[in-house]
Amino acid sequence: MRRGERCRPWTASEERRLAEIAGTMPRREVARALRRSNEAVRQKASRMGVSLRHWEPRCSETCPACGMARTELRASGTCRPCELRALVARAESETAEAMERLGPADRAVYASTETRLQSAPDPRPAPPRTEGMTPYRAARARDAYREALERWEVRTLTRLLKARRRRLERMIKKISNQ
Ligand SMILES: [Zn+2]
Repeated sequence: MRRGERCRPWTASEERRLAEIAGTMPRREVARALRRSNEAVRQKASRMGVSLRHWEPRCSETCPACGMARTELRASGTCRPCELRALVARAESETAEAMERLGPADRAVYASTETRLQSAPDPRPAPPRTEGMTPYRAARARDAYREALERWEVRTLTRLLKARRRRLERMIKKISNQ
């Protein structure tokens, strides 16, 4: 509260709003949302026993292609998993073209080895159960989950891309020996 400013009593709905948003955003944004000074909000939160502690997320970038919260966007403007997905798609379309150029017997062999090449993926991280958590802990848990998911996607897609490229190389070799 600025000096000379009259103490404006808190309404019940303002108190509810404070309890709702405390910890979900930086303090200054909580104060702005309530049109109160930082100090007034700090004192009120303390009296209500509400924590204003805010988790600054590591996954703070939103990928424009997949809409996921990511730790970083690449020079291409998208996240790493989106880049990898595009590379996998390219390898797959090149594989389809190579398939056309194979003889019928080889084509049958490569078609049947398709499933075998997909190695078992790591288990996908599960979203956290945040019921009953403080907003701070819930935000931290959600952020950790997003980061784990990003790492898992990168790992899984990298493995898939390598398998696709190896297969494509073998097919190209076969074609050149035909
Ligand atoms: Zn993306």
